[in-house]
Amino acid sequence: MSKRITAAILALILAVCAIACGQAGPETIHAEPSTTQLPPTEIPMTPPATEVPATETPEPTVRERYPIEENTAFKPDVYPYLVRTESAVWYLAGEDIELLGEEAFYDGLYAVLEHAEEDFADAREALKGYINEEVLPVGIHTDFCGHEAYSKLPTYGAFLNGSISLYQNWMRASDALLHEYVHYLTMGCTVRSTGGDFWRESVAQYVANIVCRNRTADLFYSGMNPNAQDAETQAKQLGVWNEEENRVDHKKVEFMYAQSFANGDMVGFSYFTVGQKTVVRTQEFRDDPQRLELMYCEASCLLAYLIETYGRDMVYGNWSTSLSEMEEAFGKPFSELYHDWAAWNTEQCALMGITLP
Ligand SMILES: [Zn+2]
Repeated sequence: MSKRITAAILALILAVCAIACGQAGPETIHAEPSTTQLPPTEIPMTPPATEVPATETPEPTVRERYPIEENTAFKPDVYPYLVRTESAVWYLAGEDIELLGEEAFYDGLYAVLEHAEEDFADAREALKGYINEEVLPVGIHTDFCGHEAYSKLPTYGAFLNGSISLYQNWMRASDALLHEYVHYLTMGCTVRSTGGDFWRESVAQYVANIVCRNRTADLFYSGMNPNAQDAETQAKQLGVWNEEENRVDHKKVEFMYAQSFANGDMVGFSYFTVGQKTVVRTQEFRDDPQRLELMYCEASCLLAYLIETYGRDMVYGNWSTSLSEMEEAFGKPFSELYHDWAAWNTEQCALMGITLP
């Protein structure tokens, strides 16, 4: 199969592979006090079914757990409604509700809310010991109409700038959401933030897609995506589909995509780097790999390799180091670390049953 076809297949599956960035900025859209307590939820009083013991209360649905509230505090003219969850306050823009239509907007919101809390909790657990014990709810707001600068770039599904902006639509935003939440944790909820684009992006992508299950990102393969069927078929062919749970395996997708870059299959193709630039992968990259020119998946898998080889304390302990400090800490030039990783990644793909086209 030609490299062009290979790349096209990968591009279809990974059209929304979390390309997102985070900036720790002074602009914080939410200035919520700690609102970790949910308002009491009404449990509908329905007569118990005959086979259900009278003492059992039905689990509240996601819509009952997280009711829509009127927003009277922060920019109510832009965000007339909000939803409070344990980890976030979601601000819903009136224009976005109009854009998608009420039904589609709230269906999308609740499809995301169905699993977002579990994902956020996984990310906090994954970073335990490296972030603050108390994590305040993050502000999240929709901007599907595209008012913010980054919303106009097709590479961004979401963006952290104090709070998390969601761009394009629920499908695109949900794919980048957990990545952005990890930025929030590692940039805003720790005494020692991830520093520099390489570390910021590699840690966010590694925790969101390799360590965590990232359930919300499954929405790319749901009815929300008109190409979901094709993507699912191709994911099965490439060995990145979890047959048992009937879902894509985001970890395997990272490794598969990273392998195609490491193999040189993506030479000649443009991609968005962890250094926040769109570049074309060159043949020469292999001889002189640059830390800031890694594709996100290469960075996340490189991090997985470093953690397996050197341990989490060593890697996270260096998550703000410059290139020279990093080379000193790991005792090797970056190009050597990259090639060691590439060989390891090939083995991992074989072990995981990933079949590159
Ligand atoms: Zn990012």
